Amino acid sequence: MNKLRIVFWAIAIFLMAGPIGASAAEEVNLYSARKEKLIKPLLDQFSAQTGIMVNLVTGKADALLKKLKSEGINSPADVLLTTDAGRLHRAKVAGVIQPFHSAVLKNAIPPQYRDTEGHWYGLSLRARPIMYVKGRVNPSELSSYEALADKKWKNRICIRSSSNIYNQSLIASMISANGIKKTEAWAKKFVKNFARPPKGGDRDQIKGAASGQCDIAIANTYYLAGMLKAKDKKQRAAANKVAVFWPNQSDRGSHVNISGAALTISAKNRANAIQLIEFLSTPKSQEWYAETNGEYPARKGVKMSDTLNSWGKFKADDLNLVNLGKLNPKAVMLMDRAGWK
Ligand code: FE
Repeated sequence: MNKLRIVFWAIAIFLMAGPIGASAAEEVNLYSARKEKLIKPLLDQFSAQTGIMVNLVTGKADALLKKLKSEGINSPADVLLTTDAGRLHRAKVAGVIQPFHSAVLKNAIPPQYRDTEGHWYGLSLRARPIMYVKGRVNPSELSSYEALADKKWKNRICIRSSSNIYNQSLIASMISANGIKKTEAWAKKFVKNFARPPKGGDRDQIKGAASGQCDIAIANTYYLAGMLKAKDKKQRAAANKVAVFWPNQSDRGSHVNISGAALTISAKNRANAIQLIEFLSTPKSQEWYAETNGEYPARKGVKMSDTLNSWGKFKADDLNLVNLGKLNPKAVMLMDRAGWK
């Protein structure tokens, strides 16, 4: 081999190695409504596996959505990780996320937990059952959300305000099941059974029940899971006073919502972004993510924590969650008409 040939091959090998060397700088930018400690370990695993660095920006769900809207096409974000199908739908309507199709995600996530057009994919389930105070309520008295409009629950129910998206989504699911008229008539009676004007978050409803202000609280189960393992003794004591009742088991099932991920309209690291969302849907990620957040895995057949198992199996409403977003404005207006503060 002559000298020239050696130089040629040396240059060729150098050039071929280029992209491999460059892959160390691969990255993906994530806007996350999940707190750092509830997502970072999983992101580190992703980086270790793929060599893709994840730049994490955390914030409150509504604030992140606002940020995406104001940044528009110039946003540095590639992926939005947030809670509630209603909010993911708002992101879609606002035009800040774009559809993508992934055979991996279609296989991993049941169809009711992802957008029909591929704008977002659910990663965990957040159940919103009835919680009752042990000893003060016999679970045999409970059956459905609808039955909570009965007079016997007067002044016995704690639930947060109608400005909260969890309640808006619950009402949207009832509109879908029962229609507007029936749901409005129900809501008017339901509101009369409130033990106090709505205030505070879901934890406050559980505390209200435990302290005797009400006998029933409507709350997402991850709050109860969080209280059960809280450092604060008072929170643990309050949580231990209540039990979970899964409503509507003889018809559509209990209301569930999701946390989910979407590809932003501005995504410059598209392939890495999709790879990250797919990674979050693997059985191992699903197990960690659900357990750490006190939620249920979106993927079927994934191992669950002892706390979740202690509440038993339940039938979830299999309404396609796209409807929660679509019916959100109607739900908000209905709650207002019903006098739900
Ligand atoms: Fe929450």
